[in-house]
Amino acid sequence: MSIKRIVDVVERKRDEIVDFVRELIKTPSPTGSEGAVADLLKERMEAEGYSQVMVDPVGNVVGVIKGKSDGRSLLCNGHMDHVPPGGMKSPYSAKIIDGVDFGVEGKVIYGRGATDMKGALGAMMMAGSVLKSLDLPMKGDLIVTGTVFEEELGNIGPPSLMEMDNLKPDAALVGESTNLALAHGNRGVVRTKLVTYGRSCHVSVQEQGVNALYKMARIIKRIQETNRTLPSHPILGQASWAICKITATPNTVNVVPDRCEVEIDTRNIPDFTPEMIINEQQKIIDELTNEDSKLKAEVSFAKKQIVTWTGYKTTVAPIALPFYTEPSNWLVETGRESIRDVLNREAALKIWGFTTECYCFTQRGIPTIGFGPGEERFAHSNNEVLSINDLVTATKVYAVLASRICNS
Ligand SMILES: [Zn+2]
Repeated sequence: MSIKRIVDVVERKRDEIVDFVRELIKTPSPTGSEGAVADLLKERMEAEGYSQVMVDPVGNVVGVIKGKSDGRSLLCNGHMDHVPPGGMKSPYSAKIIDGVDFGVEGKVIYGRGATDMKGALGAMMMAGSVLKSLDLPMKGDLIVTGTVFEEELGNIGPPSLMEMDNLKPDAALVGESTNLALAHGNRGVVRTKLVTYGRSCHVSVQEQGVNALYKMARIIKRIQETNRTLPSHPILGQASWAICKITATPNTVNVVPDRCEVEIDTRNIPDFTPEMIINEQQKIIDELTNEDSKLKAEVSFAKKQIVTWTGYKTTVAPIALPFYTEPSNWLVETGRESIRDVLNREAALKIWGFTTECYCFTQRGIPTIGFGPGEERFAHSNNEVLSINDLVTATKVYAVLASRICNS
């Protein structure tokens, strides 16, 4: 299949791509309420002639362009949810404006989810439609998936694709924004809950009680001090941890609190596992308890209940493991070739600053890369915009990459 033909068809569909992404942005889909976007995606896949389209029990959308034999299959994944609009003005307007005020060349689409990540999701869906319209059946399947509950670390989207839907792709691509570079790694995230216990009393006789907040203050100080001593990975960088959330009980000005809780957010690397993290935090508690017999504390993984838009309920631990694919991996090579085909330049390799769900695939032995339109700096920000030129370019790269992989 000639690359030029693919690129030409994508270019002809420029307006269709932009319109579809705008429709996705105009349809709010905060975490847990992705239903309307799921419907939109499913209906559009059906209209574009995808061979199989379904919504699975947790609410993920799966669209397959069937290959004719047993070539390699590629799964392109994007999450359908977005973070809350926050202070963003007209977050669902999806208006097209000049990018100059945002430091972006050319026109941009403005709106919550433009960068993170309805642009990529729309581009992936359209890449499938382009390959379908060329009517040159591929050897392997192209699978395009829109998943749920990514932004709140639900850990349920991609795992369900493989465990419930039984998908077994030979390669996976996640479309989180890379500014058209190729991402091959990111640190993970592990959230733990640390609680200190004290004894409540009237603050006027505070010496009769034990202030759980003061005990916590000592732990917080130690967490801050030890941050710089956490282990490092040569490519992914240094692990880090921080406390940004605290609750004291009762939260009253004249009562000594008997309970204080924090959540610790740890950004981890492959050799610093969730178990090691909790052990390190336990060590801090043990050391401080040795110095102060009144300090009582415990640490555990912060678990939570989630309900997806289909009503599926489960309890999850907010953990996303680190992701790393060697630059010498065949998929990285094929990704770079596809980017070169379209952009006529070498693809830059990058490591994402944020966490992604790529590990869900690599953990199951599926080689994985990241590539998407949009810049990381706009994700979760109040001025989220997406370059239209980059959106179209990404669609070309997705289609070329799928053609290269599914025909090899
Ligand atoms: Zn995202």
